[in-house]
Amino acid sequence: MADKITAVKGMNDLLPDVTAQWRTIEESARDTLTHFGFGEVRTPVLEKTALFVRGVGEATDIVGKEMYTFEDGKAEGRAGTLVSLRPEGTAPAVRAAIEHNQLAQGALVRWFYLGPMFRRERQQRGRYRQFFQVGAEIYGAATPQADAELIDAAHAFLSRLDLGELTLEINSLGDANCRPRYVEALIAALKSHAADLCAECQRRLETNPLRVLDCKSAQCQAVTQSVPTIDGFLCEPCRDHFDRVRSLLDALAIPYVVNPRIVRGLDYYTRTVFEFVSRETGEGALGSQSTVCAGGRYDCLIESLGGPATPAVGFAAGLDRLALLAARNAKPAPGPDLFIVPMGESAIAQALQLAAALRRQGIWVDQDLRGGGLKSQMRRADKVGARFVLVLGDSELASGKASLKQMATGEARDVALDPEAIAAAM
Ligand code: ATP
Ligand code: MG
Repeated sequence: MADKITAVKGMNDLLPDVTAQWRTIEESARDTLTHFGFGEVRTPVLEKTALFVRGVGEATDIVGKEMYTFEDGKAEGRAGTLVSLRPEGTAPAVRAAIEHNQLAQGALVRWFYLGPMFRRERQQRGRYRQFFQVGAEIYGAATPQADAELIDAAHAFLSRLDLGELTLEINSLGDANCRPRYVEALIAALKSHAADLCAECQRRLETNPLRVLDCKSAQCQAVTQSVPTIDGFLCEPCRDHFDRVRSLLDALAIPYVVNPRIVRGLDYYTRTVFEFVSRETGEGALGSQSTVCAGGRYDCLIESLGGPATPAVGFAAGLDRLALLAARNAKPAPGPDLFIVPMGESAIAQALQLAAALRRQGIWVDQDLRGGGLKSQMRRADKVGARFVLVLGDSELASGKASLKQMATGEARDVALDPEAIAAAM
């Protein structure tokens, strides 16, 4: 036998035993977001690297070390263009909105996207190198009600799924006016404990100090427990915005906790940031990969990517993590409505015709394509979980009638060999 070629590490195959669950999640997302007025945007998987360098930030883990990047179109004597597999969906959506002139003065745009993202991370449960996100973005509204409605949309989507307990955590990161003072205070506090930080965070202290708050290592979390938090540093307008977002969430009866340590790993956020975190423990839980949905306001990104100054707010939810949580309580997938068991040459043709006619009526019909005896075909019907079985032999063909057996009860009744009659009897 030839050598097996395996998948690229961290890139998963999703087989039919889980894709049914995935489709439920995706359909819930599409349906919920459509009812909030979001239109779907589909952008390419490959973008110019410069988009993420500028849009996500050079000092982030994503751009610093996680992107799949290559030089496209390189030839003798000619440099190519650096392109990357998209690590996230916000910068590409903004790029598309600018490129297609969707952000004219006064525009209000609601977009959502759903698709694969790529980050070269260390693979573990809930963390993969190809993973899927559904994300939603609102462009053009600076108001607290935009933040509240976006969080409501995420909450409505997640509430439709059977995910166990989720907590909404929110924070404000301030803006260009008040955040620098906080960052200064944070750096000063972290510097006095620099020796206790992990090697990564000692570097972050220089390049991206806010990110130290987000480090998952125990030693860094111990340090950050005692450093100042941003809430005491917010300027009046940022504080007012945050207060209003919170009272709107109260009005919507969406429970939340304020967590002044949420910072998010991307550079573009201003003011509101939030995460939905799974509180489930035990078998099938997500461990430290417990954030299933995250987002916030990013009022400067659009302008920094060459668009008109436009306030924006968005979220992204990780479908892989949602699927892992949903799988904990998943019911077994239902089987076919009807299993036809043909015995003999003429019954085979008749079974195929009947099956085709019934499928046109929306009925799921299966049969054992390997043929075989009555017993083995019945075993197959049982194994696939068919609701009804119809055995077709020479005598049934001659009489134009067959017995339709309900598998759960064993009850059987005669039906005419006619698609309408069979459908009506099920
Ligand atoms: P984390 O802190 O877990 O690394 P993040 O801050 O990098 O998350 P975002 O970039 O905000 O995450 O992405 C939003 C969501 O996408 C995350 O909350 C998570 O559910 C999902 N996600 C991010 N990276 C991965 C990954 N490598 N594999 C699976 N899901 C992911
Ligand atoms: Mg990450």
